[in-house]
Amino acid sequence: MKLNLERALVWIISTFLMVTGSMFGTNHWDTPEKYTARVESLTLFSNTMETAVPQTAVYNLIRNHLATPSADGRKKKVLVLGYDGTRVDTLTTIDPQESAITKLSQNGYGVLSYCGGVNYPRMNTQATSTAPGWCSMLTGAWADVHGITGNGQAKSNDHLTLLTTAVQDGIADSSAFYVSWSGHFNRKNTTYYPEKQYVEEKGLPVKFQYADNDEGTLANVKNDLAQKDCTDFIFFIMEYADHTGHTSGFDVKNKKYVSAFHEADAQALSVLRVLEARETYDQEDWLLIITTDHGGCNLNHGRCTIQERYTFLFCNKPILAE
Ligand SMILES: [Zn+2]
Repeated sequence: MKLNLERALVWIISTFLMVTGSMFGTNHWDTPEKYTARVESLTLFSNTMETAVPQTAVYNLIRNHLATPSADGRKKKVLVLGYDGTRVDTLTTIDPQESAITKLSQNGYGVLSYCGGVNYPRMNTQATSTAPGWCSMLTGAWADVHGITGNGQAKSNDHLTLLTTAVQDGIADSSAFYVSWSGHFNRKNTTYYPEKQYVEEKGLPVKFQYADNDEGTLANVKNDLAQKDCTDFIFFIMEYADHTGHTSGFDVKNKKYVSAFHEADAQALSVLRVLEARETYDQEDWLLIITTDHGGCNLNHGRCTIQERYTFLFCNKPILAE
């Protein structure tokens, strides 16, 4: 009964958003049915929408990788390539010639995942937004634990991210978070503002580094990877798709949105090439993850529509326990 009520409410709200979006000419009749058909046509995933995994799985993958020593003595390393605000159905447009997702999924694993605290069609328990999404991956928990239900909230240091705990627990020598969205830690009332102060006060080798734009973030990541002794755990986020979605529409029929996704996917591939060119690459055991924090619908996200709820997760190592 409860589930039926929730389904009905989600349907009513979704329909309202579709109709208003169409009235303003921003969604080209982007419907849940078309979205679902596109997602189901993808052959990149080993699971279904019903069995989508929580985005908190990212935390477990990284923690397990770092905490388990390599049998052959290789140094454990992690690189997370974040594509902010990328709808799962945009993956139907991948350009396989210049795609980090293609590269990772051909020799790795892919699953459908979800944001918002519970799988669709249940009503989300945290906004399908940037701060709660990435925070759930970095803490391995939902907002009922870390407290970040939406953007513009400062996370308590009672729930530190894996960037900090991995270093404190000695499973990584250093970590870095490279971003260009000022809502992460640039001012009070942003997610990691207290944690950034915490690591700076303690002098921990945990970097929260901001750049003005994606080019700056990519330069920071590549510069790090080019160092002989690069950071052990690198997490970076590109805003190409999210920015374009907010200005012209999160929609697979929007050419600008699709090319912003292609730009992110091509840039991510260029980062992987820099990583593979490392002199010590053969002596390192890298965990590579590509994921997004949420989808989008019309000019926004944060709400409960199916287009906002699903995310993707690609990894060079198994994601699901068999
Ligand atoms: Zn976002």
